[in-house]
Amino acid sequence: MEVAETIESVRSLVRAARDEGKKIGLVPTMGALHIGHISLIEAAAKNCDFVAVSIFVNPTQFSPGEDLEKYPRPLEADLEMCQRAGVDVVFAPASDVIYPGENLTWVTVEKLTEPLCGRSRPGHFRGVTTICAKLFNIVAPDVAYFGQKDAQQAIVIKRMVADLNMPLEIVVCPTVREASGLAVSSRNQYLSEQQKEDAAKICQSLQDCRRMIETGTTEARQILARMREILQQIRSIEVEYISIVDAETLESVERITGKVLVAVAVKLGPARLIDNILVDAGR
Ligand code: AMP
Repeated sequence: MEVAETIESVRSLVRAARDEGKKIGLVPTMGALHIGHISLIEAAAKNCDFVAVSIFVNPTQFSPGEDLEKYPRPLEADLEMCQRAGVDVVFAPASDVIYPGENLTWVTVEKLTEPLCGRSRPGHFRGVTTICAKLFNIVAPDVAYFGQKDAQQAIVIKRMVADLNMPLEIVVCPTVREASGLAVSSRNQYLSEQQKEDAAKICQSLQDCRRMIETGTTEARQILARMREILQQIRSIEVEYISIVDAETLESVERITGKVLVAVAVKLGPARLIDNILVDAGR
């Protein structure tokens, strides 16, 4: 496994692989790798001949006052995990490699970035789309892998790729969960054991929602009230949003008839946690 810290070095490694006719897969991450990231790497390894993982805590997707400084950066452990997972190259640039000076060019996806996390994290998706566009330009993968865990991010990236005719495919992989149902996340490290137990209520509220939709409840208001009730059982959970939106447009849905995304964001102690499910009421 190679570790590239410069744009030139990762480009030349990928170019050599492409010259050998290899299909290139990219897994963009912010490091602090866990089994969720590994599932993306495994999907890439299954479908591609050369797997690149980027590890970069992207400052432009953090709002002022968020956890940019304290975000975990266990690079050595991450590299070991990548090595064991059979990654070909890790691209781990310093911040000034990606942003050598003031950045004046940004990629913005409209509409889809307004609801859900876009509302509470202004500028977040502009940072996400810009770093992904940069990584796609630097690595030039055939396929890039994202997690359903960050559902809005995956939808926004897919739209950016479609609208800007970027020559790659986006694959979205299922959310990996702990036995309790808690979605695995680098930010779970901020939680105590008790808080992790409490956080499992997020998944429970989503499962209840799925059950209600699948047994014929169509009023979003009724489902949202039930979910809020479940989350309020844990006093330390502060709900940022619970939303039922159209799975493609992310517009709010009142009567559930087709495919919806049910998304939750909460604050729990030191962490902001998000989770979601896709439910198809038409099935
Ligand atoms: P991050 O390092 O948090 O920016 O995440 C990098 C990629 O891993 C993103 O595409 C995430 O959606 C994905 N990811 C994070 N957690 C999980 C999880 N529990 N299951 C599946 N994918 C995940």
